[in-house]
Formats: sequence, structure tokens, C-alpha cells
Amino acid sequence: MIELDGNAIGGELYDVFGMDMTGVMGVCTYCGAHAPVAEAVVYMRGPGTVARCRACHELHMVLVTIRDVTCVDISGLAALEMQ
Ligand SMILES: [Zn+2]
Repeated sequence: MIELDGNAIGGELYDVFGMDMTGVMGVCTYCGAHAPVAEAVVYMRGPGTVARCRACHELHMVLVTIRDVTCVDISGLAALEMQ
């Protein structure tokens, strides 16, 4: 599976959040690492797109699009810190 970074989902996240999220700092629920969304490890194959923590590889985000509606599970992020 090809490993990408958070920039690969920048467009999808923009559509969901209405702003550029790639520079927003995410705080990992599992290890507490702080890193920009752009630095997440992203896998785009499978039924949904997943973004994982670059430090501990736990799940940060899952994006699933069904009938033009994108649902985002961000339960792996303890916080999203806007600059
Ligand atoms: Zn982590």
C-alpha cells in the first residue's frame, strides 16, 4: 500500500471543514504527539481513507465518502489546534 502524507487529503478535508487543515496541529489521542495534519501517514486504498500518527502509527482519522457525503471520524485526535 502506498504511504502518502496529510497533504494528499488536503482537498477532502477542505471540503469537510471549510478551511485548509493541513497546517492545523493535531494532538494524538494515543501518544500525545503534536504534529501538523500534513505530517500524518495517509493510506488512500480500501473502503475509506485513513490517516495515522507518524509517531505511534495509531489511527487519527478515517474519511469515508458515500453518495457524495464525506464522513470524518477524528476520534484518534485529542485536539485540533488552530494557529
Ligand atoms: Zn501517536
